Amino acid sequence: MTQSNIPGFLVEPEEKITQLRQLLHQASYAYYALDNPIMEDAVYDQLYHELQALEQEFPQFITPDSPTQRVGEKPASQFVSVQHHIPLYSLENAFDFGEMQAWEVRWQRYWQTNQGAELPTPEYVCELKIDGSALALTYEKGVLLRGVTRGDGSAGEDITPNVKTIRSIPLRLNWDNPPEIVEVRGEAFLGLDVFHRINQEREAKGEALFANPRNAAAGTLRQLDARIVSQRQLDFFAYTLHLPETDDLRTVNFPGPAPTTQWHSLELLQNIGFKVNPNRQYCPDLTAVQAYYDLWATGRLALPYLTDGVVIKLNDLAVQQGLGFTQKFPRWAIAWKYEPEQAITAVLDITVQVGRTGALTPVAELNPVQLAGTTVSRATLHNRDRLAELDLHIGDRVVVHKAGEIIPEVLRVFPELRSPHAQPFVFPSHCPECHELVIQPKDEAVTRCVNPTCPAIVRGSLLHWVSRNALDVEGLGEKIISQLVEKGWVTSVADLYDLQAPQLANLDRLGAKSAANIIASLEKSRQKPWSRVLYGLGIRHVGAVNAQVIASEFPSAATLAQASLEDLNAIHGIGPEIAQAVVDWWQNPANHTLITRLSQAGLQLTTPDLHPVPSNSQPLKGKTLVVTGTLPTMSRAEAKKRIQQAGGKVTDSVSQKTSYVVVGENAGSKLSKAQTLNIPCLTEAELVEMLQ
Ligand code: NAD
Repeated sequence: MTQSNIPGFLVEPEEKITQLRQLLHQASYAYYALDNPIMEDAVYDQLYHELQALEQEFPQFITPDSPTQRVGEKPASQFVSVQHHIPLYSLENAFDFGEMQAWEVRWQRYWQTNQGAELPTPEYVCELKIDGSALALTYEKGVLLRGVTRGDGSAGEDITPNVKTIRSIPLRLNWDNPPEIVEVRGEAFLGLDVFHRINQEREAKGEALFANPRNAAAGTLRQLDARIVSQRQLDFFAYTLHLPETDDLRTVNFPGPAPTTQWHSLELLQNIGFKVNPNRQYCPDLTAVQAYYDLWATGRLALPYLTDGVVIKLNDLAVQQGLGFTQKFPRWAIAWKYEPEQAITAVLDITVQVGRTGALTPVAELNPVQLAGTTVSRATLHNRDRLAELDLHIGDRVVVHKAGEIIPEVLRVFPELRSPHAQPFVFPSHCPECHELVIQPKDEAVTRCVNPTCPAIVRGSLLHWVSRNALDVEGLGEKIISQLVEKGWVTSVADLYDLQAPQLANLDRLGAKSAANIIASLEKSRQKPWSRVLYGLGIRHVGAVNAQVIASEFPSAATLAQASLEDLNAIHGIGPEIAQAVVDWWQNPANHTLITRLSQAGLQLTTPDLHPVPSNSQPLKGKTLVVTGTLPTMSRAEAKKRIQQAGGKVTDSVSQKTSYVVVGENAGSKLSKAQTLNIPCLTEAELVEMLQ
């Protein structure tokens, strides 16, 4: 299905441009004027790009107030507005190497058209793009005169008292004979630790939290009370030096080489007392720029402040001057942004999947989009409640999010960009696979199909059984398993072991050789240890690691079948939810039948004892013990196991037949009963002695 032939997408270009413009206006106001963003930067950037592309295609719909036509927001009124004598514009963005190459071609063409045929050498300086707020600082005779925000690029706010609280901004330049006026630009930012501390303090006071360090820095700079600014510990990296054009710079005594390049400017800034980011690099061409970008893609994550990309500037200041500015950006610099974890796309359809536990998961089928290095075409909507909360319609524009290895999810819906034809989604009342009525258990967010013969549940449990961490059966992928279920050959994992090679060879896309390989792999799976079988059973909440932990405490299916909730809860690392799920599983008679069949099929349902206690040295043979209370070093399950290995029997209640009661801390009624009946009590140490 394409976007254009589903009703949800029928939005006219003019309408679309208006919708985007309004949404970006709102976002921009919340971001710049309120320092309280309503969407992630990456999402803003993508919507902005979309608007830009539409405006390029339909220039008749561009309005002068479009966010693509201006920088930032108007300065807030509580500060005095100051005109910048050189614009303090935004930066053009690139998102991949191709866009960087296109930028290089663009500035070179501009140069040839406006400055002559001979091209300057394309040498660059790369700097990290610090996620803060730009400041322009004016020094008169080397003394800080004024600090101004970027504002709308032409005029900013005079926030000098606040700027003076930033310790990394020198109040006097370390320069003996400076030019009359010097302007320094750079980024004021908050370190991550300071940012977290401020938010903690705000939380304690019940104040609204800052969304990110950048907004916290911008908000702090525009505080009316400089004492608050001072407490916030803003920091500053300088990155641009403007020397007066009229001054005869030959008479100026520079502390270091006279700056003719960006690289020299940065050195000079450092020499006259500014903090300059040390992670800068001279790059003779775009290939070197790419290497720098790649290096910092991961390196930046370890920095104590946020960066959202790399800024690439032409090194030669004369070339910078020759290229000048567009209405919004310098032509001589560009920001190459890092891959965001969020992307905007459209929902083409909503489907509902049934998992091996019967859980119904709604899934958004997306217009494919690039996200954190992969193409994402589906995203989870979790469950019915989440879907209702999002109020998602088919055709909606949504933000998808992917962090690390987590399955992409739909984070947010933009009703503002909805087509009038978009259809709300009705969650099914019946299982889409077996058509049985579904249920939503009380206090659970999940809607479930509870039909154990539902083909989706059977398929899911088979796929889990053959998966790598379970029985690791090769050759049984989704397609083959679907055929096995459809033909009714396999209705439980035990049926897999009745399959014959000639039978398998009849399946679609499966020859005799593959069939033989599957049978051989099934044969191999018979040797997989009990812990893998336990994981393969797919008991709810029992992951591969939990299965190992449980199997080491209960070394066979037979012992686990006897385990009480108390025994399982006593295992270190096993929570009550898992313990309950294991007990529930054994309460279903069908599962006992399954275990019997797996045992007949030759699967490993016990862990071989590597240190068996010889039968003639079973010190507790014929004895019945009860374990109660918390033992100092052993879990109750472990004590039980060791007693059984030594030939003893363990029961849950104390009676005349009990030989010993092993007593730990906080023992209750079982201890009193033992005392009443005069049954000997043992400490853990005494038990260990007996075992030996
Ligand atoms: P920008 O972030 O795209 O780039 C320009 C800025 O980069 C400069 O003004 C400067 O402050 C900074 N910078 C950091 N390190 C630098 C360095 N070494 N050299 C030069 N400059 C450096 O600029 P922008 O125009 O402020 O705004 C666009 C950004 O604001 C976008 O990233 C956008 O996502 C964000 N924004 C977000 C929302 C939202 O709702 N989340 C709204 C509006 C804008």
